[in-house]
Amino acid sequence: ERAGLTEVAPHAWQMPQTGAMRVPAIIYANRQLLAQMDEKVGEQIRNVASLPGIVAAAYAMPDAHWGYGFPIGGVAAFDAAAGGVVSAGGVGFDISCGVRLLTTGTDAGRIRAVQAPLAHELSRAIPAGVGSHGRILLDAAQMTAMLAGGARWAVARGYGWPEDLERIEERGCMAGATPEVVSDKARRRQRDEMGTLGSGNHYLEVQEVAEILDAEVAAAYDLHPGEAVVMIHCGSRGLGHQIGTEYLREMALAAPGHGIRLPDRELACAPIASELGQRYLGVMRAGINCALANRQILTHLARGVFDRFLPEARLGLLYDVSHNTCKEEAHAVDDVARRLFVHRKGATRALGPGAPALPPALRPVGQPVLIGGSMGTESWVLVGDPRSEAAALSSACHGAGRAMSRHAAARNWTGSGVQQDLAARGIIVKSPSKRGIAEEAPGAYKSVGQVVEVAEKAGLARRVARLVPLICIKG
Ligand code: 5GP
Ligand code: MN
Ligand code: MN
Repeated sequence: ERAGLTEVAPHAWQMPQTGAMRVPAIIYANRQLLAQMDEKVGEQIRNVASLPGIVAAAYAMPDAHWGYGFPIGGVAAFDAAAGGVVSAGGVGFDISCGVRLLTTGTDAGRIRAVQAPLAHELSRAIPAGVGSHGRILLDAAQMTAMLAGGARWAVARGYGWPEDLERIEERGCMAGATPEVVSDKARRRQRDEMGTLGSGNHYLEVQEVAEILDAEVAAAYDLHPGEAVVMIHCGSRGLGHQIGTEYLREMALAAPGHGIRLPDRELACAPIASELGQRYLGVMRAGINCALANRQILTHLARGVFDRFLPEARLGLLYDVSHNTCKEEAHAVDDVARRLFVHRKGATRALGPGAPALPPALRPVGQPVLIGGSMGTESWVLVGDPRSEAAALSSACHGAGRAMSRHAAARNWTGSGVQQDLAARGIIVKSPSKRGIAEEAPGAYKSVGQVVEVAEKAGLARRVARLVPLICIKG
């Protein structure tokens, strides 16, 4: 057990307070996840707790692992009026990386009957891999419209259905984006990358609903045992990465001028009220729209393939959540209503029942919280818990979290070996990169079952449905 940690509530561990820390640092975990969590997470979350204008606490979710500056699985909120900051490292390089889940209304048995050709056609339709190109080319004006409109732009262009928009955070379009401020280089990198998965742990997965843990919420989500669903995980591709790169550098250089002494250079940030802080927020919001449009186009491509193989399937969008963002939100901290800039990096917003931001159909039960596991293990649908507001400003985990580095995974497994093992279990994996498959081997991740159990016990979100993979199209 880690020295100095105090369990202040079930599965909530408070780190020792140092002089530089302005608020507590809290890690949500059980003893085993704590033992698996790299030392660095504690150090990183305490550094975050030392940043100017931070409110409530700095939180690490149960799936947390080391990240650039902020841990992946970190949540931190700042008050602009109290000198609060916005951090490019607190959002992450893949701005608005996120997950959406589509129901199909079709039995998984129908998928199994066409599993190999369906996997093949999905892999042909969904561009994947490092620097993958799509068939959509955007000129400067279209790029600007996409960065302003997000999924709304995509639907207007014929990618997907108008009713999808209701089921996307921000109703598909992040307000306050400033496309004209996005650099030429970021735009250039995105010119032909719309509707592509990219590399690494991004995927389009066909899964089966294996178990329902909350029948009432599952019914509201249209999730039924034995039915197939489609999970899509990806983000803002080259554009988001370029924005992250540019602003990390600029924020690190500008910090002394803003009177900010960084506990770690990687925590580069700028006052929310500063010109740089405001400029980053506008550009980051354009990055959010890019990710929302991207997942919308991928949805359209997946529907096209399903239409050919399983015309009876109807791929309805349950919900789309981002897990790399900074959003201005209203929160009650110590019973005082405040407007805060909430960073969630590798963390999912998890609104409880009644939240006005939810669409009417989901409002009575709460927000779907979509959690990937790995291509060989279960994934999960959770629902926002009212207790999450006090626990972590309505946030929850976003995945299983890595148990080892990509490098270590590539030493432990081969891509073909992993692919064969999974095939023997009825799971088809398609990827342009064998090394990528090895790096993403299921064994490289922590136990997602344990992560979601802790999330539930800690009051972050409650379990609704367990999903198991059938087909994984991997970046
Ligand atoms: P991240 O957003 O931090 O890049 O990854 C989120 C989570 O996705 C990881 O922690 C992992 O649990 C999960 N994940 C990674 N690869 C896959 C995959 O191929 N399929 C599923 N279902 N989940 C995955
Ligand atoms: Mn992600
Ligand atoms: Mn990503």
